[in-house]
Amino acid sequence: MAEPVLDITAQTQLLAVLGHPVHHSLSPHIHNAALQAQGLDIVYLAFDVPPARLSAAIEGLRAIRALGANITVPHKEVVPALLDDVDPTAARVGAVNTIVQRDGRLSGYNTDIEGFRDALRSQLPSGAEDRRCLVVGAGGAARAVVAALIAERAAAVAIFNRTSTRADALCAAARSWGARSCGVVTEEALPKAVESADIVVNATTVGLDPASKEVPFPVDTVTCEQVVLDLVYGPAPTPLVRHALERGASAIDGREMLLRQAASSYRLWTGLEAPLEVMRAALTNR
Ligand code: NAP
Repeated sequence: MAEPVLDITAQTQLLAVLGHPVHHSLSPHIHNAALQAQGLDIVYLAFDVPPARLSAAIEGLRAIRALGANITVPHKEVVPALLDDVDPTAARVGAVNTIVQRDGRLSGYNTDIEGFRDALRSQLPSGAEDRRCLVVGAGGAARAVVAALIAERAAAVAIFNRTSTRADALCAAARSWGARSCGVVTEEALPKAVESADIVVNATTVGLDPASKEVPFPVDTVTCEQVVLDLVYGPAPTPLVRHALERGASAIDGREMLLRQAASSYRLWTGLEAPLEVMRAALTNR
């Protein structure tokens, strides 16, 4: 008989990801591979929790003394109000993607910020310091990206969004977070803004559908000196990454950020350095 992969006992602790939908999440693959590689008696499971049940699910985590959880779409911006405390950076961004339970208290963090920073540094070791950056999108992920760019002391952050009022709101928030320079880009000015940025980030959902060939901004002004980060990922390179690479830019999809935010969450839960290469291998071919 085959050896059981996991020896689950009455002491095994629980980590979870709560989202809606959540069936596509790669987080269980990443975290269970890491937990097993480090011999930890913890399992990580995915739970589909509709918005109306989120509060009950969070209380459930508390009641069963779960070690912690990841929070994903569409709950990241709602969950802070359900926790006992929220890390100041996550509170500023208004979104939590990681919960840690300590002595019955639930604390919220946002590891997307670190995840984005580390993914960017994987392409550009000096990071965003003194770089001109363009962020396309103004949702929860864009807020984390803008917070990371400001923390890195980017020279300027330009924001374009389909719904311009959301870009205005994010730009106002960015100024209050200490942005050196921040402005909103109009649709007409977008090709020029793409051309003049050192770092261009797609934080919209455009490209998420694997059948789609849509790109979130005009790609014909991408240059070979630029770094393009697409937060979207799928089984194949996204249309944006394909176009950017064809134009000679350095470009990656959202898998690196996914991996890096997972590594940060893992550190918070276990106190251990995450086995990044084990996590990366768990993502391969998925
Ligand atoms: P969100 O809060 O729902 O924001 C969605 C953003 O996409 C908004 O800016 C929205 O613009 C824009 N958008 C949606 N459909 C569009 C379209 N057809 N054309 C142009 N813009 C469109 O979502 P989110 O949480 O920020 O996530 C955004 C993306 O980042 C998702 O694809 C998510 O999977 C990805 N993400 C990846 C990671 C990672 O680790 N790789 C982490 C977090 C998020 P409007 O304001 O005009 O609606």
